[in-house]
Amino acid sequence: MERVHIDVKNKFKIDDKISQYIKPQIIYVPLENKNGVVYKHLVKEGDYVYKGDVVAINEDIDFPIHSSVSGNVISGTKKLISNGKKIKCIVIENDFKERYKNKLGAKRVLTNYSKEEFLKMLKNSGITGLGGSDFPTFLKYNVSCDIKCLVVNGVECEPYISCDKAIMRNYAEDILEAIDAILEIMNIPYSIIAVKENDYETITSFNNYIGTYPNIKLYGMPDAYPSGWERRIINTIFGVDYDKYPTEIGYLVSNVSSIYAILELLKYNRPLTERVITITGSGIKNPVNVKVKIGASIQEIIKYIDGYKDIKNPLFIAGGPMMGNSLPVDDVVITKDLNCILVIDDDYDKSLPCIRCGKCIGVCPVGIMPVCIMKNYNNYAKLKDLKPNKCIECGLCSYTCPSKIEVREFVRLAKDTVIKHDEV
Ligand code: SF4
Ligand code: SF4
Repeated sequence: MERVHIDVKNKFKIDDKISQYIKPQIIYVPLENKNGVVYKHLVKEGDYVYKGDVVAINEDIDFPIHSSVSGNVISGTKKLISNGKKIKCIVIENDFKERYKNKLGAKRVLTNYSKEEFLKMLKNSGITGLGGSDFPTFLKYNVSCDIKCLVVNGVECEPYISCDKAIMRNYAEDILEAIDAILEIMNIPYSIIAVKENDYETITSFNNYIGTYPNIKLYGMPDAYPSGWERRIINTIFGVDYDKYPTEIGYLVSNVSSIYAILELLKYNRPLTERVITITGSGIKNPVNVKVKIGASIQEIIKYIDGYKDIKNPLFIAGGPMMGNSLPVDDVVITKDLNCILVIDDDYDKSLPCIRCGKCIGVCPVGIMPVCIMKNYNNYAKLKDLKPNKCIECGLCSYTCPSKIEVREFVRLAKDTVIKHDEV
C-alpha cells in the first residue's frame, strides 16, 4: 500500500493552550450514540440532577451517561449528533452550582486499587475511547489473557485535529503518571507511547519527565495517514498482525485522551463529564482546543470563542476531514466521541466520472477495491467477495480520487447492503 501524506490547503495555527468553556446554559444527553447504541433515560421532566448523576444507561452492559452539570430536567428535544442524525435528548438546565450529590473524595494514591476495582470504576465512570470510537474502555481493558504492553495512541493523524497533541504537551507528566499506575494495577510490564516522529514539541514534553519512568518508552510513527490506526501502530512497532483486536496477541491500545480521563478517575473518582475538542477551519475566527462539558451545544461554544468568519458556503464536519461526517448545520451536541468540529468553505469541485486509474485501490490500507465496491454498492451477490465490511472508513479513497468522487460514501452504502442482507 502507498504511504500517503495529507496536504492541508490552509493550516490554522492553534497554540498549545487549552481554553475552557464549562458554563453552558443547557446540556443535552442524546439517547443513542453515534454507533446506534441506545440508552434508556433514568430521569424525567421536573427532576433535579446533581453533577455526576447517572441520567441514562445502556441496559445491555449497564453502562452510564452522567450529567455534566447540576440543574433541572426540562422538556426533551431532538438534536444532531456527530453521525449527522437527529436523536432524542434529555435536556438539563444548568443552575451553575456544580453540585455533586456526594462530596468528591480527597486526592487518592493512584495505584490503591485492585484490577477488579479498577475495571468497576472504569465502567461506572462512563469513560469511552475519546479518539472517536466511543467504545467503552472497561470492555477494552477487561481481558483474560496477559497483556505484554500498553500502547498509548498519541498519533492523531487526521489533519486539523490537535486536541490530543494539546493534552500531551500540557499534561505530559500527568499522562506518564497515569500510564505508570495502569501498568501497576493491570500488571502490564511496560508501555509505549506512539507519537508522530516529527512532532518534536510533544516528544520534548515527554522527554522532560520520562527518565523517571523506566517502563515507558516513546515511539515515533511516520507522519503519514493513517498512522494513528490501531492496526497500523501495532504492525509498525511490533511487526505483527491480529484478527479482530490487538489484545488477542497481548497488546492493549488506548487513546491518550482516554488515559488522561483515567487519571482524573483514579485521582478524584470523577466520572467522564468533560473533554477537550478542537474547533477549527477557515470559517472559525479563533481556532482553539477547548475544554467543554459533554452535552453542551457547539453553537454556544463557537459563539464564546468569537464566532464565525464570513465564508460563502460553510460546511460543518464532525471529526476530521478524512473520517468525519458532514453536518447540515451547527446545531450539534458534544458527545464523548466528538474530538473536532471543522468549519470550512465548501468549495469542492463537482465530481467527474471514474477514469479507472486504480489510485483508490493503491491507497486502501485494508487492501480492498473501493472502485469495484462503488460500482456494485447495492449488488449483494457481487459484494460478497469484495468484502466492503473490512473498510475502516479512513477516507483515503475519496482523498486520492482524481475525479473527486466520494468513493468512501459508496463503500459505506455497500457495507449497509451487506449488513441488511445478512440480517434477513
Ligand atoms: S475508506 Fe474504506 S475503502 Fe476507502 S481507502 Fe479507507 S478503508 Fe479503503
Ligand atoms: S481513484 Fe477515482 S477515478 Fe480512480 S479508479 Fe478510483 S474511483 Fe475511479
